[in-house]
Amino acid sequence: MAIRTREEYIKSLLPYNKKVFTNGDRVTDPLDHPVTRSVVEATAKMFDMANDPEFKDIMVAYSPYINENVNRNVQISRSREDLEMRYKMARLTSQYLGTCNYRCVGQDTTTAMASVTWEMDRDLGTDYNTRLTRFIEKMQREDLACSGAVTDPKGDRGLSVAKSAPEDYLRVVEKKSDGIIVRGAKVHQSGAIAANCTMVIPNQTLQSKDEADIALSFAFSGDTEGITYITQYTPFSAERMEAKDDVYKLGNPLYGQRETCIIVFDNVFIPWENVFMCGEWEYAGKAVERFGKTHRMNCGGACKVGYQDIIIGAAMVLAEYLGVNNKNHVKDKFIDMVAMQQTSWCCAIAAAAYGFEEPLGSGIWMPDDMFGNVAKYNTAHNFWQTMKLAGDIAGGLAVTMPSEKELDNPETAEYIRKYYRAHASAEKRMRMTKVLQNWVAGLHGVGTWQGAGSIEAQRLMIRRLMDSEEYKKLAKIMAGITD
Ligand SMILES: Cc1cc2nc3c(=O)[nH]c(=O)nc-3n(C[C@H](O)[C@H](O)[C@H](O)COP(=O)(O)OP(=O)(O)OC[C@H]3O[C@@H](n4cnc5c(N)ncnc54)[C@H](O)[C@@H]3O)c2cc1C
Repeated sequence: MAIRTREEYIKSLLPYNKKVFTNGDRVTDPLDHPVTRSVVEATAKMFDMANDPEFKDIMVAYSPYINENVNRNVQISRSREDLEMRYKMARLTSQYLGTCNYRCVGQDTTTAMASVTWEMDRDLGTDYNTRLTRFIEKMQREDLACSGAVTDPKGDRGLSVAKSAPEDYLRVVEKKSDGIIVRGAKVHQSGAIAANCTMVIPNQTLQSKDEADIALSFAFSGDTEGITYITQYTPFSAERMEAKDDVYKLGNPLYGQRETCIIVFDNVFIPWENVFMCGEWEYAGKAVERFGKTHRMNCGGACKVGYQDIIIGAAMVLAEYLGVNNKNHVKDKFIDMVAMQQTSWCCAIAAAAYGFEEPLGSGIWMPDDMFGNVAKYNTAHNFWQTMKLAGDIAGGLAVTMPSEKELDNPETAEYIRKYYRAHASAEKRMRMTKVLQNWVAGLHGVGTWQGAGSIEAQRLMIRRLMDSEEYKKLAKIMAGITD
């Protein structure tokens, strides 16, 4: 069976030939650094889950590409059922990781390209789909952890792509007989430092052939020459570095907040066999839109719902620890949180239920455009509401808490135990409050808002998809107006 174990995955990262920098230092062993280790651990957990009989139904899928069972993380949706299982996996992995599963964007970019390359080959006579199919087969056979690179630096957003500086968008700078040379960067890349490979797609719809150099899709492995990774660095990174192995006091012990990086491509050679779009600017928008709705169903409508499972659970435990779980306003807050969460979940379910083969004949299934986009749109808004309500229940301690280390300090332990005890011990209250701090005072609010595309991207799609004539027609029927 083409499903790797965590040990096989970790071994595949070593020797660690990627050029990775964090907080100004080069990382030579991702397991030896507290921040990068959290990404490896989260990715490894995905392999554990695929090998765990408890999760097998969701984490394993049959693939017609290689006629074998594969890790669902490398599955390409080829039916409505695939779409359903895909969003179920997103929620499940969020519940157990409490952070990004780091294989989601890679899967969704590859699925989008499976659809778009089929269309390009049909319309243009290219052989991109054949190349991509070979890549998918390899990815499935070897169970490769694949990240997804969409977001360009973009520079001055007020300028059109054609008028932007060359470094604002990843572009092809030379075409050779055996491959292409690319230069530029992709930013905010989830989990790329611990991935075996990355699937690159364009960032946005392109307007003319002047922008053809950035109509680019390809796959590369992490140790390709000319590639540099620079990781994000946040107060949570600093806290993790300071804690070293004492990570159980960090709220999400093994897997961290969530880690991204910028990937720099300094004249990188990509062989033609790994190139899936190069210059076909009319198809860039299709790639982005198909990735967008798929990722918005999974990331917006399911992954964040899994996060909300944890947030709501932590707030419920804290309400008990504080002795307020039976107060009416607290019970009301749980009703509100669950109603918002379930609305997002319903959007994911609807997006898959109304999914369809796109394009017809390609064999690739995509979620419904409107439901996919409103899944993310709703979640972006209600995640902040959930953070607000959970923060209300936890009280100020969610942001004022001393270190749990004080409980080991003979000079302060007694004070902490005495003054932070509520209906439960100070130890329990602090440990659970730290879990909640990760969510209500961490990186996930903005992360949820911006991840899978800023909110305006969804508004643009909703505006484009709304059937205004139908709305107006119904209102006129009601009013008895005939034009
Ligand atoms: C936690 C996290 C994980 C991520 N993971 C990945 C990943 O794995 N892979 C990946 O490729 N990307 C990833 N992203 C990137 C994510 O998709 C982008 O952050 C998102 O698309 C927004 O892009 P931006 O950050 O450049 O912000 P911008 O697009 O610059 O948005 C900033 C503001 O400017 C506005 N704006 C921008 N351009 C225009 C314009 N032309 N006209 C009017 N208003 C404009 C926006 O609406 C917004 O209000 C991740 C992001 C986050 C936060």
